[in-house]
Amino acid sequence: MRRSLVVGNWKMNGTLASAKSLVKDIVSGLGNTNADIAVCPPFVYLPEIDQSLQGAHLKFGAQNVADQESGAYTGEISASMLKELNCTYAIVGHSERRSYYGETNESVAARFSQALSQGVCPVLCVGETLEQREQEQTFQVIDEQLDAVIDHAGIASFAEAVIAYEPVWAIGTGKTASDEQAQEVHQYIRQQIAKRDQTIADNLQILYGGSVKPDNAKGLFAMPDIDGGLIGGASLDAESFVKIYNSI
Ligand code: PEP
Repeated sequence: MRRSLVVGNWKMNGTLASAKSLVKDIVSGLGNTNADIAVCPPFVYLPEIDQSLQGAHLKFGAQNVADQESGAYTGEISASMLKELNCTYAIVGHSERRSYYGETNESVAARFSQALSQGVCPVLCVGETLEQREQEQTFQVIDEQLDAVIDHAGIASFAEAVIAYEPVWAIGTGKTASDEQAQEVHQYIRQQIAKRDQTIADNLQILYGGSVKPDNAKGLFAMPDIDGGLIGGASLDAESFVKIYNSI
């Protein structure tokens, strides 16, 4: 049985005070759900979040990680720095990083490997744009995004990683993929991994991301290949985030 996981991606939002109160409210709202849960605050808040969450069921991670180990890379944050701050996860290849900051499949693959090398679990985001979907290129895009990471890090690395399927057209738009549309791609991703290693595919957590809200989470999470969610906007509100988590 795969464990379920819900991850909140706070993006560039909030203040130190709001970050601290958000984690406090999430922790106090958590009931008996046994699934995994994490938040990814902005880098600068990670030390405080680490302090507030010592021993809590709520884990945390970063929204990105450098594609190099260390050195003259102004503005970047290395995987060893994230490890030092006790990050469990690092999101890599989010579509906003790919489209606004020019991250390529190759640089995402290098970030994925850097995270793994420090024992930080990469949450690899993949997904197609609306144009690519309309041109029936969804599976080809997913293949290219996955293959770059498999070539760089090897299939065995997926035993220590999470994949998030995030159709770009559903992120922050209020348009969610239907349960069936999401399941179709999740199943495809699992099959692509299974072609290389069935056990890794069976155990791999594949999250859905794209306008998940308390009212659509249950249907998505009930799909056989959807193991939870990567949540943007709704993760900034403790009540909504906990409701989504409790839909697992
Ligand atoms: C995201 O940015 O990863 C995301 C899924 O955002 P939203 O939930 O706001 O669509």
